[in-house]
Amino acid sequence: MSGPDQPPDEFGQIARLFRPLARGAPEALDLLDDAAVIPQRPGFDLVVTKDAVVEGVHFPKGERPELIARKLLRVNLSDLAAKAAEPWGYFLAVSWPPAAGWPARQAFASGLATDGEAYGLTLLGGDTTSTPGPLTASVTMLGWVPAGAMVRRSGARPGDKLMVSGPIGDGWLGLRAALGELDDPDGYLAGRYRLPEPRVDLRQALLDHASAAADVSDGLIADAGHIAEASGVGLRMDLDLAPLSDAARAWLDRQPDRAAARLRLASGGDDYQVVCTAPAADAHALGLTVIGEVTAEPGLAVVAGGERIDPGPGGWRHA
Ligand code: ADP
Ligand code: MG
Repeated sequence: MSGPDQPPDEFGQIARLFRPLARGAPEALDLLDDAAVIPQRPGFDLVVTKDAVVEGVHFPKGERPELIARKLLRVNLSDLAAKAAEPWGYFLAVSWPPAAGWPARQAFASGLATDGEAYGLTLLGGDTTSTPGPLTASVTMLGWVPAGAMVRRSGARPGDKLMVSGPIGDGWLGLRAALGELDDPDGYLAGRYRLPEPRVDLRQALLDHASAAADVSDGLIADAGHIAEASGVGLRMDLDLAPLSDAARAWLDRQPDRAAARLRLASGGDDYQVVCTAPAADAHALGLTVIGEVTAEPGLAVVAGGERIDPGPGGWRHA
């Protein structure tokens, strides 16, 4: 079997799709060896994170392959961003279903090329297989931080301010818009869901000032809660202070129950902002929106619509 839509064999695929993405990095050995080799970098720690996506679970069947690839890099970049690590490289495992022809695979690789270049990433290795199931792709991403300086979830202290780096709720609204359940005239919300912007720009500010940080992938309340749990502290947070995009503000203005709507925005995932804590003296320098503070007594005290509300179990756990 052959033809323009027919993929070459595994080694041909690696050579044509993936070798250019290694961009000549010596560690990748041109993707010709059994493994990559990473020399120690004196004075730095290697920060490692992993995220996988499955067709039909993390993106709808029929999503453009470029976008699947770019979002896969971006969700991993968001984890590095929250840890104040400088993005460096990644490993990629991909399982192609029969329906993924050569043009689709090339489109996937071109998405990796676009964002790999934009974010300074080198492809260091990976694995390529076929599957009778849905398309599955997984990235292990590596970044560098000065030794001992990774910003953890566990560093929040009573009296610290709680801050968030940007609009909350666009991920959840964007998913609904992408599913056609929500009016999105200019496509802004669906765009935020399909191609988030990881906050790699915050790296130096987080290194200099943050006591703890997490990226907002599970939802603001859940991810702030993860910081509280890891730090053995509590949080007071006012959801009315969380920044909103114009589109989210317009949606909120149409909701009869403001508190419930605010809670909804803060419980949805996929925002890929950073939630962090910092001593009061550092909060201003971070330049982020203060939404609350860290308390000695454990638990979450949440205000929305001007009233104390019960955030419910959805605020704490994976769905
Ligand atoms: P193995 O013989 O151990 O199975 P492979 O044949 O899977 O090794 O891979 C050969 C080389 O190609 C390795 O350097 C591997 O890292 C690289 N490689 C395979 N698939 C990918 C991929 N999807 N992305 C990047 N590199 C890959
Ligand atoms: Mg081998």
